[in-house]
Amino acid sequence: MYKRTEGIVLTTRTYVEADLIVNYLTKDYGIISVYAKSPRKVKSRFGSSLEPLTYSKIAFIGKEQSNLPRLVQADILTPFQKLRECYRTFIKVSEIVRLTMKLIPEGQPMKTLFPLMLNTLKVLEKRPESRIPLIYYKIKLLSISGFSPMIDRCARCNGSADKFYLSEGSTLCSNCIDIAEEHMEITKALKNLYLFLWRSNPDVLNRIKIDRDLENRLEELITSHINYTVDISIVGF
Ligand SMILES: [Zn+2]
Repeated sequence: MYKRTEGIVLTTRTYVEADLIVNYLTKDYGIISVYAKSPRKVKSRFGSSLEPLTYSKIAFIGKEQSNLPRLVQADILTPFQKLRECYRTFIKVSEIVRLTMKLIPEGQPMKTLFPLMLNTLKVLEKRPESRIPLIYYKIKLLSISGFSPMIDRCARCNGSADKFYLSEGSTLCSNCIDIAEEHMEITKALKNLYLFLWRSNPDVLNRIKIDRDLENRLEELITSHINYTVDISIVGF
């Protein structure tokens, strides 16, 4: 088996001696792990192509059932070096990388995930201070992985609702609330912004402008939902 695709390096870790295991998000095969022979030797063919976030054309070989194919080629398309050089930006990007690896199982081709990640990195490289590409990425990732919060209706009766409960991962209407728990008010503007981003293609990031207060509230909603839902569900496995 010899396969070619495009991939973004998510993480790397040492294998035996000078070898590395590289996690890629690929265009055609979802997240995969491959091993790279001696990439840290001076004459390695891989050069800097295995740095985290590097986007490359790659080729790997391995038996069909082998869980660790071998990387044989990695030609850099975009290094995304700026994202690695700025510590604050790298921390933010690392967070969405970790979240992606937590929510998306290896080896499941997901057509929309690769362009989503690639576009997010491109936008962040141009505008590293912008928070909306990261919020957008999280909204879409939650949708792809089936963890979206429900904020447009009551989860129990489907009626209109505007109070969001973390333990439900959704809004509830006043008739259905039977839990004593802090909630977050979902205003019409917040609901509309969330639904707009949830529906939009990534190119929306190049033209959207959001009120700062609304952006803060959307970020708080998405971050709290992720911290609660994702952490709980991972512990439950
Ligand atoms: Zn209800």
